[in-house]
Amino acid sequence: MPGNTLADRVDEAAVTATLADMVAIQSVNPFDEPASPGHREQEMADYLCARMEELGLDVERRDIVAGRPNVCGRLKGKGTGRSLMLAGHLDTVGVEGYETAFEPRVENGRLYGRGACDMKAALACYLEVVRVLRDTGAELAGDLLIGAVADEEHTMIGSKDWGPNWPHADAGIIGEPTELAVCPAHKGQHCLLIRTFGKAVHSSMPELGENAIVRMSRVIAAFGDYNDELKSRAPHPLCGHGRFSPGVIQGGTISSAVPDFCELEVDRRMVPGETPEQIVAEYRARIDPLMKDDPTFRYEIAGPTVGVGPLDISPGEEIVQSVAAACKAVTGTAPDISAFPGGTDAPNMGFPCIICGPGALAQAHTVNEFVETLQLANAARIYLLAALEMTDTPGY
Ligand SMILES: [Zn+2]
Repeated sequence: MPGNTLADRVDEAAVTATLADMVAIQSVNPFDEPASPGHREQEMADYLCARMEELGLDVERRDIVAGRPNVCGRLKGKGTGRSLMLAGHLDTVGVEGYETAFEPRVENGRLYGRGACDMKAALACYLEVVRVLRDTGAELAGDLLIGAVADEEHTMIGSKDWGPNWPHADAGIIGEPTELAVCPAHKGQHCLLIRTFGKAVHSSMPELGENAIVRMSRVIAAFGDYNDELKSRAPHPLCGHGRFSPGVIQGGTISSAVPDFCELEVDRRMVPGETPEQIVAEYRARIDPLMKDDPTFRYEIAGPTVGVGPLDISPGEEIVQSVAAACKAVTGTAPDISAFPGGTDAPNMGFPCIICGPGALAQAHTVNEFVETLQLANAARIYLLAALEMTDTPGY
């Protein structure tokens, strides 16, 4: 593959040092709280913006809510090629029980620390790509953008703002940890609340009341074969089948009263092509028949409490083939082209993005999160080759 000479200029020590800087910055997602010390996506943004400015990028930065920014850097090309964005998130999950989370350490070819793979690794690679281009004087035909968003680990306010309001590119790569597999698809996640209602009376005469918890038990039973039904449908070629799982239940206040309210939060993994409207209709088709034997039965469906869209880029698309070819050129092996197991910012970005990054999802969100430094450097090489090809840059 052309560009290998440039890819050889990727410096494993340099990209590892950048990642260590990033891991030491505490950017734990504040979840439902305001941004505060230790939860500062803005300090990750400060670091990233300073490095991008040093490298000569045009940098744009804006808070989505106070202290929670998105940032975008643009390396201007010659204006004759297409644009590519390398994107990722600034936040990490929490660090409970992980005492050395912010003390990056390199040992046996691995860098350990919170965010080492999910996903400061890819952000470090993006800077290395630009450094190599700058130090070698290589000029891209099209623009290369680096995008970083707040809040991937919670409600994705960053990427939800990106789609309508921020620069787009002709294609994008999001470096979530895939161990360098190329993932052009993933399921969506749609969580809803199902509520049943009843009539509260003293529990010494339950026959006079209507028990919302008992009603919810019938609702749960009505979903007994739902996963089997989902499995019987034609599978998506990469994502397989949808899944349903009841996750959180609450109802009643005291055992001496018949409860008049019960709420169940259910998680539905949607395959590409399924819609939130269709899911609500499927739920109603299972719950409505319960009214036949229970004329005062009442329920409602509320939410979503979580709404992440599915991702569905065809494996034949050029961005997929280009990144796969770059992986093969760098590692010597053709990568897996598969579905990413979780949800990502990709469906929110407003242009076609695929997932490919260093590190394993198995290490993400764990104590002793790590990335292999060789895989880290290889990811930077892959992004560099993909950047040359996707911006139509000849001659390397
Ligand atoms: Zn992530």
